[in-house]
Amino acid sequence: MSDALFTRINAKRDDLIALTQDLIRIPTLNPPGENYREICEYLDARLSAKGFETQLVRAHGAPGDSDRYPRWNIVARREGPRAGDCVHFNSHTDVVEVGAGWTRDPFGAELDGDRIYGRGTCDMKGGLAASIIAAEAFLEEYPDFAGAIEISGTADEESGGYGGVAYLAERGFFDPARVQHVIIPEPLGKDRICLGHRGAWWAEIETKGEIAHGSMPFLGDCAIRHMGAVIDAFEDRLYPAMAARHTEMPVVPVEARQSTLNINSIHGGEEEAPEDYSGLPAPCVPDSCRMIIDRRYLVEERYDEVRGEVVAILEDLKANRPRFDYAIRDINRINPSMTDKGAPVVTTVHAAIRDVLGAEAAYIASPGSYDQKHIDRIGTLKNCIAYGPGVLELAHKPDEWIGVTDMLDSARVMGRTLERLLLG
Ligand SMILES: [Zn+2]
Repeated sequence: MSDALFTRINAKRDDLIALTQDLIRIPTLNPPGENYREICEYLDARLSAKGFETQLVRAHGAPGDSDRYPRWNIVARREGPRAGDCVHFNSHTDVVEVGAGWTRDPFGAELDGDRIYGRGTCDMKGGLAASIIAAEAFLEEYPDFAGAIEISGTADEESGGYGGVAYLAERGFFDPARVQHVIIPEPLGKDRICLGHRGAWWAEIETKGEIAHGSMPFLGDCAIRHMGAVIDAFEDRLYPAMAARHTEMPVVPVEARQSTLNINSIHGGEEEAPEDYSGLPAPCVPDSCRMIIDRRYLVEERYDEVRGEVVAILEDLKANRPRFDYAIRDINRINPSMTDKGAPVVTTVHAAIRDVLGAEAAYIASPGSYDQKHIDRIGTLKNCIAYGPGVLELAHKPDEWIGVTDMLDSARVMGRTLERLLLG
């Protein structure tokens, strides 16, 4: 039964390569969010010709959306002749900036041996192409399947997903009544199932002082010294407390299998002088110091506890350190997400990996987040994983590539997954 499907998928090797190359040659750089309309129209033409009903959805009013840089998304749905579950493949169409260090044309999509090179090959147009090939082969082999297949191409994953999956989720596209299984073909490896990701809380902490002449600092109050006290307290109390916590989340790399806190930036006192200024700085006691923190947290932790732990340290300083005052401003919040290993999409893809690759799939979780957060929280759809071809470490790097064999193997796993879910 599945031999016929595998033969079909293998026969589409050249089509898979050409499709991937076409997608890479539409430079969907984000920011600012270029060519979203073009890539949606390309996918629309391809999938409409295969019998999909398509909707192009612009995320009007989402962060970054403008007439110059509209946030276009596509959702394509192919209904089977019999009732059943809907399997949705969601890929983001945006790619990050090119950066330095390339030896290949970043938008040339050069095929060299088994590899296609270009920005977005691995993250994640290769995964998008693999899911399209898998779905098309399945539809040819089983025209009387039960249920529905959806393929979406969405904007802005690299900048938070608010003009993409979050916008669609708010409009019911990921309602569990409409979609039952979601696979996000991010480049996590063809024999690994990504169950979810850690949460994140970003905030700005400001310590306050009083400006005075730098020769008489006792007449003012140095906001930077107060920030030093905050960092000392983090070192003494927060970092050891975080290091002592453990998680059931199978995060890779393993160093991320705990809570982490990064200090993104600190700015205090005078603005940095412009490049063309050759004078000296003025002597002032800084009256403000601002720090941006990036706290990543685990499914075992709760957002209000994570935030409360930092606020407690600041309140302690306020009570005990003379003249200490602060403000805290939340910048971003992402809930951790982890799909249960017993969820149908997990057990099905696990079995499909065994069928196709003869391997026991490894379960992993991502240290950073991806669009699963919106499907989980806004869409309230829990039956969601990331599964797709590619080497995660190549994402966002120069000379990014995707392996054609890996894409084909993943497409076979996806095809086998469709057989297991939609032939009932
Ligand atoms: Zn990605």
